[in-house]
Amino acid sequence: MNELAPYASRSEDSRGRRYLLPPDPHRNEFQRDRDRIVHSTAFRRLVYKTQVFLNHEGDLFRTRLTHTLEVAQMARSMARRLGLHEDLCEAISLAHDLGHTPFGHAGQDALDEAYRAAAPDAGGFEHNLQSLRVVDLLEERYPEYPGLNLCFETREGILKHCSRRNAQALEDDEPGGVGRRFLERTQPSLEAQLANLADSIAYNAHDLDDGVRAGLLDYEQLLELPLLARLHAQAIAAHPELVGRRLLYTLLRGLIAQLIDDTVRATLKAIEQDGIDSADAVRRAPPLVRMSEATAAQVQELQAFLRDRLYRHERVWRTTRAAQQVIRELFTAYLQRPDELPEAHRERRPLEVAVVDYIAGMTDRFALREHMRLFGPGSLAAELA
Ligand code: MG
Repeated sequence: MNELAPYASRSEDSRGRRYLLPPDPHRNEFQRDRDRIVHSTAFRRLVYKTQVFLNHEGDLFRTRLTHTLEVAQMARSMARRLGLHEDLCEAISLAHDLGHTPFGHAGQDALDEAYRAAAPDAGGFEHNLQSLRVVDLLEERYPEYPGLNLCFETREGILKHCSRRNAQALEDDEPGGVGRRFLERTQPSLEAQLANLADSIAYNAHDLDDGVRAGLLDYEQLLELPLLARLHAQAIAAHPELVGRRLLYTLLRGLIAQLIDDTVRATLKAIEQDGIDSADAVRRAPPLVRMSEATAAQVQELQAFLRDRLYRHERVWRTTRAAQQVIRELFTAYLQRPDELPEAHRERRPLEVAVVDYIAGMTDRFALREHMRLFGPGSLAAELA
């Protein structure tokens, strides 16, 4: 364990768990959370869930699981340099995408739309809130309580965003709990802020890699971005013979190193400027984990590039549209014929929530199999499979 800075979270100061758990003589509380997450069913499903490219489109694209591992690695790396609690950072990172639907953002949008249409007053589907539902409620592992019974600090980090109405519902259920900060507009721990930023560093870098691998982006295009053009020039200056895959990875490695280094420096500066000297002061301050203004602007350019050239690429769109139809049709089918749901889900009310929980928990291939079972071969799912 690294030396903790005064503004780090400390497991002995944790606000605790919803159900009392005697201390473990060999592990701190955040380590226990991480271990509980790794052993969860939802964690194992991440391997068969889409990040950007559908799981079966190729064996080397990121899945939710490999994305998650990259986020955890980067968050830990930065946490160590900043004197933050590595285990807490790791636990939050490993759990951050547990509530994601099959088929990535396309699946999430489709489920949100279907849910809003069926239950206009329910507030729709939010994957952060769903991740919290998974660890609080849906995992079935312990005799004494539902969910994984994680620490407040881990749960707080998992709930990255939350609408005001959902925050109010959480607050009603658990006064002073993880919904409170969205009502009071305060910040979560630095570990939570760091895991959040590590998420974006990871996907910005690996989506470039996957985009090139898929043949949807070419290397020359990347150099339209000044940030990448400069890293390319540095790579070539050091290794003039560099081409192909090694050149791409040298570029991406340079990108990750720069973003991480910039984040550590800008965050330390913000902590110093605001005179932050405790974990409590972090919560009252503005968001402190950040990149420098110049780098943040370049990252925005990179994200716009990814959006226009990759996420909205015709080939990505085509599978996106088909995947959305699978989700929509599954939603309608279960709602009309609850008997098709597994027994444990069938009895739960409201039925819309049972259907949302069931679909959100599916892997890509399970969703396709279910769609084929309900709609027959030759259906849309066959086209995607
Ligand atoms: Mg993520």
